[in-house]
Amino acid sequence: MTRQSITLIGGGLVGALLAQLLAKRGFAVEVFEKRPDPRVAGFIGGRSINLALAERGLQALRTAGLADDVLQRAVMMRGRMVHPLNGTPGLQRYGVDDSEVIWSVSRGGLNTLLLDAAEAAGVTFHFGQSLADADIDQRRITLVDEKGVERHHDAPILVGADGAGSALRAAMNDHTPLGIRVEPLGHAYKELEIPPATGATRFAIEPNALHIWPRGGYMCIALPNTEGSFTVTLFLPAHGPHPSFDTLPDSAAAATFFREEFPDLLPQIPRFAEDYDGHPVGALSTLYLDRWHIDDRALLIGDAAHAIVPFHGQGMNCGFEDTVVLADLLAESGNGTRDAFAEFQRIRQPNANAIAAMALENYIEMRDSVADPHYLAKRELGAR
Ligand code: FAD
Repeated sequence: MTRQSITLIGGGLVGALLAQLLAKRGFAVEVFEKRPDPRVAGFIGGRSINLALAERGLQALRTAGLADDVLQRAVMMRGRMVHPLNGTPGLQRYGVDDSEVIWSVSRGGLNTLLLDAAEAAGVTFHFGQSLADADIDQRRITLVDEKGVERHHDAPILVGADGAGSALRAAMNDHTPLGIRVEPLGHAYKELEIPPATGATRFAIEPNALHIWPRGGYMCIALPNTEGSFTVTLFLPAHGPHPSFDTLPDSAAAATFFREEFPDLLPQIPRFAEDYDGHPVGALSTLYLDRWHIDDRALLIGDAAHAIVPFHGQGMNCGFEDTVVLADLLAESGNGTRDAFAEFQRIRQPNANAIAAMALENYIEMRDSVADPHYLAKRELGAR
């Protein structure tokens, strides 16, 4: 019996996990990924260097048989370590004990592990192949490689896991309007690094925590990496009056700001100038779509369908949950892909909308209400 073929666009976190789950359920899966193979060329980032993996994402990895492998490469985070402007940092635990924790994982390491697992399950990857266009009526896609060479590929069933800037979404929307709404947050981010400590401890600050420096309208966070470093993310208004990325255009201005607002953090970032001047400012927004699919022909999943702001650490986790639901629906559907796609949207869209709202709320919670009384008093006195 010929196996049903599914074409995936995007071999990132969600695409690679979905590919593995579908292959394990007997589908013939081909994945077209824009970037070169990260296992050969090295991982090309662009989004956060590490991510918080939570229970809903772990559950999907358990279904794929990969949870233990991933956790071996992760750092446990027991709670939020809140760093007030004045005073001693304090841990706010997520649960009563270590049964309720989240995990810090490397994006590149996780992607590599998922690609290996998908390939072992029989998935065929085509790296360096970017979706340029999709003819939804003819069920045919156009891909272009790094040299600009075009190729065409028949894709009777097409799933787009090509992220927040999805090219498949654009092609689908040209065919049938999807009701796309993008709501920019107005705040942006920049990544910095606390390097590993010398000596036995390896970590310069508490390793088993998600660190937060809440400062009202903005904040820094830091997540640990297995080799002892931390990835620090500064979240700040993109534009407008001080402080914003407009008023902190370079490391000199930013260092002055950090000396005032994050005095305990700045000395931990020895390459502050290189990091600040060298790393891009990333925009943040929430994506809503009325329609995630065009009948049985094409469907969007993960960030391509529902990109959210990162403050609940749930974008990947939500996308991982998507993959299990979709793989189950397609496996149960026989040839009735249309019903599977419609059911997928019916089940997952309310969840994605709820997580999007929670993520927006949590930005306020993280930057404000993990409250620093000294800081709030200072703000009330208008001392800034
Ligand atoms: P992506 O990871 O964006 O992958 C898309 C893939 O498609 C990429 O490999 C890309 O190269 C490929 N692609 C793109 N265009 C094409 C094309 N035209 N043709 C072929 N391939 C293409 N989530 C969490 O759960 N926890 C966190 O702590 C967390 N922290 C975050 C921090 C930041 C700063 C940001 C920005 C996001 C964070 N997220 C977090 C969200 C998480 O990064 C995303 O939800 C997740 O990456 C979505 O996975 P994806 O596979 O859908 O998309």
